[in-house]
Amino acid sequence: MQEDIKKDKNNKVTIFDTTLRDGEQSPGFSMNMEEKLHFTNQLVKLGVDVIEAGFPIASPGDFEAVQKIAEASKGVTVAGLARADSQDIDVAWDAIKNAEKPRIHTFISSSDIHIDYQLKKNRTQVLEEAIAAVQRSKSYTWDVEFSPMDASRSDRKYLAEMVEAVIDAGAMTVNIPDTVGYAIPSEFGDLIKYLFDNVKNINKTVISVHCHNDLGFATANAIAAIEAGARQVECTINGIGERAGNTSLEEVVMAIRTRSDILNVYTDVNTKQIMATSKLLTHITGVAVQPNKAIVGANAFAHESGIHQDGVLKDACTYEIMKPEDIGIAKSTLVLGKHSGRHAVSDRMKNLGYEMSKEELDKFFVKFKDLADKKKEVFDDDLETLVWGSVYKEEGRFTVNNIQISTGMHSPPMTMVTLRDRLSESEETFDVANGNGGVDAGVKAVKKITGTSAEIESFKLVAITGGSDALCEVTVSVVEKVDGKQLTVFGNGVNIDISVAGILSFVDALNRLEYLKKKNGAERSAV
Ligand code: MN
Repeated sequence: MQEDIKKDKNNKVTIFDTTLRDGEQSPGFSMNMEEKLHFTNQLVKLGVDVIEAGFPIASPGDFEAVQKIAEASKGVTVAGLARADSQDIDVAWDAIKNAEKPRIHTFISSSDIHIDYQLKKNRTQVLEEAIAAVQRSKSYTWDVEFSPMDASRSDRKYLAEMVEAVIDAGAMTVNIPDTVGYAIPSEFGDLIKYLFDNVKNINKTVISVHCHNDLGFATANAIAAIEAGARQVECTINGIGERAGNTSLEEVVMAIRTRSDILNVYTDVNTKQIMATSKLLTHITGVAVQPNKAIVGANAFAHESGIHQDGVLKDACTYEIMKPEDIGIAKSTLVLGKHSGRHAVSDRMKNLGYEMSKEELDKFFVKFKDLADKKKEVFDDDLETLVWGSVYKEEGRFTVNNIQISTGMHSPPMTMVTLRDRLSESEETFDVANGNGGVDAGVKAVKKITGTSAEIESFKLVAITGGSDALCEVTVSVVEKVDGKQLTVFGNGVNIDISVAGILSFVDALNRLEYLKKKNGAERSAV
């Protein structure tokens, strides 16, 4: 049991969340400022130790986001990422300096593959730059983290030399990344052990790991590293991140909790907030987790086999190694309807973690009434979907003012869309188009109005709650070629009508594309 672990600091695993940096930089997962700040608040509630807020030099938008997150996060360390370059470090510091606990995270490659082919330097030069980067960061703050990028494919002796040198220069945390997701658990654990055996000042630092899931080992590698002495894990909610993603926070935290009998370590994460955080991320990004995803997937606690069900009914511990309550899966029976007042709605939203301002509540209550008029029972999932589809959505370039669809089995589908374009002088523009169904016609009408060359790549429809009057959420992935580069975004639309939700999701994607185009050309990092 977790409670039995002696909570001395040698046993604590620091949870470093990089959802807003490594996670946000993967295609289709970009978030706007409002979304990032809301997510940050949830991370604080979850009890992570460090929030990596972003890569400040990447773009003015990234800088501003890191700055706002740094100012808003209380009681938690906020890290800003910087290459081993003085300008990067200066800009990173500028972005995080108002945080209660700022940390500079600087990195340079240690593998010959990267040193020879990407940096076109030699080992001595790179070592000197690593030391200089830590020293410069130290001139701003004591809390400096250093990462030798591509550590798992580096020469071990050289890696140990670099780790020792940066600890001497003052690195308080040294992070060992498996940047390309190449390591296997026994090998990765052995690498960490090698460093403990060969770096003589290693006890002056915290060894951290940052693993990628290209071979499906991200969590396994992190656990192997903990067994070998690592005491910080870099991870993301739902395991999002570059390519196949990062170690997933919920997996590593629940593995530590469930198997503390063997691992003998603990985290300060409030596991009861795991589900809320996971759901929040899917609402913000519009990207759901696979049903069989460990810990947070829809089926993670569903017992289908008759023998298993029988066992669980007699005693949950027969087949359940974790309790759904432990990760905050609530058994909510409270249902709202059209007679529910402002107070009841506001109360329910507070319980779900949404502290709304008066203006936000006003806006939300109108949406709620509109939904409750059409739908008899309004569940928690409806409320959460609705709040992200309406209140917290930042106004983009395009707003849909009206959609009128006419369709049938034997009549040609036709949709009229009325849009407002903030870059245009006219109040609103409308157009009509035919298509293969209401959504297709609507998307064509939107294309005629906006002149966009963006195309829908995939279209996914989910009914949020049961019944033919269910609220629907459509997620589309949309691609557009801009200056020879392909941009991908996800768009999200929520409505009680499937076709309307589909058209709204396309317009949402266009707004996200506008946001991404502003960031286009930004430097991207990949620790
Ligand atoms: Mn990474």
